[in-house]
Amino acid sequence: MKSKEKAIINRSPRGKVSRKKRVCVISLDGVPGELLVDAFSQGRLTALRSLWESGGWVEITSTLPPVSAVAWATYATGVGPGQHGVYGFADWDPIAKEIYLLTSHHLGVPTLWDRLGEMGCRSVILNLPLTYPARPLSGWLIAGFPAPELSRAAYPPALAARLAQDDYLVDPDPRTATEPSVFFPQARQALASRRRWAWELLTQPWDFFHLHIMVTDRLHHFYYPARRGGEQHQAFWGLYEEIADLVGELAAALPRGVELVLMSDHGFCDLSWELDLNAWLLEKGWLELRGEGEGPGRVAPGSRAYALTPGRIYLRQREGAGELTEALSALTTPDGGPAISQVVLGEEIYQGPQAARGPDLLALPAPGVELRGGWGEQEPFRPAPRPGGHTWEGAFVWIRDHQPRPGNLLDLPPTLWRLLGLRPAPEFQGQALI
Ligand SMILES: [Zn+2]
Repeated sequence: MKSKEKAIINRSPRGKVSRKKRVCVISLDGVPGELLVDAFSQGRLTALRSLWESGGWVEITSTLPPVSAVAWATYATGVGPGQHGVYGFADWDPIAKEIYLLTSHHLGVPTLWDRLGEMGCRSVILNLPLTYPARPLSGWLIAGFPAPELSRAAYPPALAARLAQDDYLVDPDPRTATEPSVFFPQARQALASRRRWAWELLTQPWDFFHLHIMVTDRLHHFYYPARRGGEQHQAFWGLYEEIADLVGELAAALPRGVELVLMSDHGFCDLSWELDLNAWLLEKGWLELRGEGEGPGRVAPGSRAYALTPGRIYLRQREGAGELTEALSALTTPDGGPAISQVVLGEEIYQGPQAARGPDLLALPAPGVELRGGWGEQEPFRPAPRPGGHTWEGAFVWIRDHQPRPGNLLDLPPTLWRLLGLRPAPEFQGQALI
């Protein structure tokens, strides 16, 4: 037996010796499966295309709401927001009366790599959102967006020091993303950082390896129409080719027998309108604001509802749910199209110890509309400031040598456990896709 094979024979907690498999996941944030397949049919992304043909893919649905923070918290834990407590990148603390940003410390349940560590398995986790600050694990971790300080973005701490020496870039600066001459070079720099460190950590002894590419989400938010032509068309596909090369390269370098999964966390669409739900609630008399600044601290006592980005609606009195759902469902954009595709009751989709922190209603936008809860008291509708937005449908899972069945993001953790040769944890809320 080769030493590499020996390393993956572990004792399970029950003391039974099992031959575990190793799994590598590469995720592309916000990439619709259809976008890749269309690109292949146009002769693009050849480095990825040949790999793609060695496996099967399906579309999966994302989380509610389909925001990267919620999606990756769900992937990382195998449970929904009612259990892990993440409903967005930011949330409102009603006791401290302030908006706070979610971090790795807010996850109320163990991560996949926490569970694997307990079983004696090592993980390499690269750039997954909401892993900042880096928490100790059995293995290596470089945090993903948002990661304000590199010194707290890696585990073990010695790794952070090496990343700093290497000018490691976690992500392009979102504030300058509308400027192509800044965005595209930074995007390539972030990819180059990932390439170097993915190679470095690939040589370590691991059982589970996850590399996340965030820049596709940024690219889509700011340049999605460029996939079809016009300005930045070349730059758009140039960046995609680099990503395809990186994925193809890493896949080719994986030791034999490693299971390989490619995936995304939500879909994307072209946007026409932005709807500020708080501005609409103000106009309809459901909301009254006092004072200045941002956040629900401004909601006046007599108000009946307010919203947090993207479509999270909090009611002061539960009785308003039916009336508000009806009014939202009838809402149209300035050009006469529907604005809202669906309004869901929070209690129907969120169950668990953190469910009370979730919204009472979740509004899902119609295609072409993006929702936000703003505090600027402007008109409810304005032309979308960014051309691309998230969709609940259209994410994908691809697995080498397997044909997964269609499902949901929640189904990934049990699928990975199957691939690892483990029985899915009873806490996981999804079903294996294979
Ligand atoms: Zn995302």
